[in-house]
Amino acid sequence: MGVISEFRKMGKNGSYHQTLIKDLKRINEKLQFLGALNESLTEGIPFTVKDNICVKGFEARAGSKILGGYVPPFNATAVERMLAKGFGFLGKTQMDEFGFGSFGINTQVQARNPFNPDKVAGGSSSGAAVATAVMKYHVAIAESTGGSISNPAAFCGVLGFTPTYGTVSRYGLIDYANSLDKIGIMGRSGDDIREVFDIIKGADRYDSTCVDTKVKGEGKKKLVVINQLMKGIDEEILSSFDSLLSQLGEMGYKVEHVSIDSITKAIPAYYIISMAEASTNLAKYTGYKYGLQRESFTEKYNAFFTGARAAFGTEAKRRIVLGTFVRSESVKDKYYTKALQFRTAITNKLGQILKDAFIISPTMPITAPDFEQAAKLTPLQTYAMDSLTIPPNLSGLPHISFPCDYKRRMPVGAQLITGHFNDYALLDFVSEWEKRFEYRFKYSLGAI
Ligand code: GLN
Repeated sequence: MGVISEFRKMGKNGSYHQTLIKDLKRINEKLQFLGALNESLTEGIPFTVKDNICVKGFEARAGSKILGGYVPPFNATAVERMLAKGFGFLGKTQMDEFGFGSFGINTQVQARNPFNPDKVAGGSSSGAAVATAVMKYHVAIAESTGGSISNPAAFCGVLGFTPTYGTVSRYGLIDYANSLDKIGIMGRSGDDIREVFDIIKGADRYDSTCVDTKVKGEGKKKLVVINQLMKGIDEEILSSFDSLLSQLGEMGYKVEHVSIDSITKAIPAYYIISMAEASTNLAKYTGYKYGLQRESFTEKYNAFFTGARAAFGTEAKRRIVLGTFVRSESVKDKYYTKALQFRTAITNKLGQILKDAFIISPTMPITAPDFEQAAKLTPLQTYAMDSLTIPPNLSGLPHISFPCDYKRRMPVGAQLITGHFNDYALLDFVSEWEKRFEYRFKYSLGAI
């Protein structure tokens, strides 16, 4: 049974929520995972919301200085649906600026890993993963463009579910890359994620890319490992993954290895497409209508614009420059169009495999690194960390990261991918896995 049903049975409110908020404030001093908090919460199953998703009346910065002070006057559809089902909004969770990052360090407030605060929490949904790892009765609404749910879920030892692109409305989500962005869920059990998914999914008149297509749960007994993806992975992660495969063997799954050469192009294709889209999305933050409001409107346009855009962090600036470049007339066929071709080729290839199998891999090539180690990586080394999480995101495929082992007291995650609109199969799989494997948590705030 998931924590949602358990909490409903207990029917806690009032002082329960107030005590939880007090405890959260204390632990947040150490782990820095929460932004705006709903201090007056007195009822409902607690849920947190990634800071790029709008909640009426609460500051939404999307991890960026440029949105400092922005308080949305409306709720994102996913949030609206949670509130309508009696869930209690607890607070916003920290993230890399606009979702640009893999470690939660590309922002002013950097969430820390609950297993070891010297280590990063992952990214970009860093705070959502920490919140899930820290609270007993709670679910997190997060978002992934290229792995931002899987990655921090793996680093913090929780479940991270990214549904099929277009099943959950993006209305009220502050855009990173519209053709890739997906709202998803983090939790501590498959049952909880299923319940939340059922609430937030489904067509929405405010998002024309969101559909009502029936979501299936067709289980597969074949697991495919893609050879090219298994390169550059730490030895300890490989040993955890081998042991996972043998346990799944005992559960009746058959493992097959296949080669897909084009999969090595997933990272460049993703970064070209996502940066191209990001650079257009960030164009509106000029300080006039959108973005940090400047005190004086008397400067000349260039000076005003330059001053306002200085509020972007380094990674955001890098993406604006590169994203604008790859879609410029003289080179767009060489980069942008080619990236779209690889995206289609990879999607077709994965689609064939997924007809009668799941695809499985570790989620991340390493366990959570120290802040110092993460800061030393070059942008290209950082992008390479996404090699396992980008393929399903590029293709809009549903995937889930689940804890499968612990190495040097840090969690290790594995990622399962299935075909479009077969999302329930992932949740069924995880429910089966949970019967054999017990997830470990360092904290369980709010436990009764
Ligand atoms: N690390 C990837 C990026 O920086 C993924 C981020 C995300 O999914 N929002 O684009």
